[in-house]
Amino acid sequence: MSTPTDTQPSWGTDYVRTIAPYVGGRPISEVAREYGLAPDTIVKLASNENPLGMSPLARQAVLDALSEAPRYPDNDAWELRQALAAHLGVPPEWVLLGHGSSDILEMAARALLAEGDSCVYSQYGFLVYALAVQQAGARHIVVPARDYGHDLDAMLAAIAPDTRLVYVANPNNPTGTLLQPAQVADFVARVPRDVVVLLDEAYVEYLEPEQRTDSVALLREHPNLIVSRTFSKAYGLAGLRIGYAAAQPALAGLLNRVRSAFNTSGVAQAAALAALRDTAFLQRTVELNRAGMRQLEAGFAALALSYVPSHGNFVLLRAGDDAQAGARVAAALLQRGVIARPVANYGLGPWLRISVGTEGENARCLDALRAVLA
Ligand SMILES: *Cc1c(COP(=O)(O)O)cnc(C)c1O
Repeated sequence: MSTPTDTQPSWGTDYVRTIAPYVGGRPISEVAREYGLAPDTIVKLASNENPLGMSPLARQAVLDALSEAPRYPDNDAWELRQALAAHLGVPPEWVLLGHGSSDILEMAARALLAEGDSCVYSQYGFLVYALAVQQAGARHIVVPARDYGHDLDAMLAAIAPDTRLVYVANPNNPTGTLLQPAQVADFVARVPRDVVVLLDEAYVEYLEPEQRTDSVALLREHPNLIVSRTFSKAYGLAGLRIGYAAAQPALAGLLNRVRSAFNTSGVAQAAALAALRDTAFLQRTVELNRAGMRQLEAGFAALALSYVPSHGNFVLLRAGDDAQAGARVAAALLQRGVIARPVANYGLGPWLRISVGTEGENARCLDALRAVLA
């Protein structure tokens, strides 16, 4: 029998105890409470959400699917996987769903990494990579960025004998940097076959056709490639948590073994299916983003602020020169009802990430920046 003591046992492994939990953008409700602001006056440009909301077809699909909510969803998401397979031009066996593509990123780490293995990713790479590697107890090989983007040659050179997984974000979040199609193709071809490459294309819908890597063609050539995408960004379904990946059947099947049961809800599956079909909504989204990006860039230039040119629906803005500048400006913006995203947790203390909003939201953000920086 154990006796009570006043010291807690140390549960878990060292590598889990030292995880810094993921911190998302501040929710509107929380900021409204804390600053005594009316929620509908707050502009949230902190989580790269779609400023148009969701497709009306997806909204209707959600309502229609609610009546099925008392039942467990289709664990194989047959209908959505068929639609995604047709969308990509691959067999349905190649398609895998996640509750958000973060789920896919974590499945890859669970399936491929054990203690003693290593994983390569870029400095300023999406934060979920570091979390997924740490959960698996694997070693992080973080490759210094080049001009805020991935240095693929250095990443290739950094692959060690115990490396099992490489994460590549294209475009990358939070920096918005883009790799050229030939660079990605060359990289994937040079990575050893026993190392899996996860190409994270969370923002692919925002790219011009000529900027896009033909990742589906690469999938056909490379059995060690996984391509992940999401319904959270351009499709406007962030709150429903649904994303997908494609890979050849051996790798897709491996990830499916570590997928949680019923990881995507029936409501999310139905919404995603409708969103995928609403190409007009997607086009409006991309056009609004293009105009909004120009508006923000012109506003930053007028304020003599520098930024990293971005290929996503967000932009990394230099808020000042010291390591606290991003947090300081973010706090001052909050007082004016504008939620931006400080990125000191990425080692980008002087910077602030701002999502592209509607014309009115972007104007509010620029006005607040002008006031704060005056
Ligand atoms: C937002 C984002 C994701 C995925 O978000 P989910 O909501 O989990 O789909 C994945 N990768 C990058 C680079 C992102 O910015």
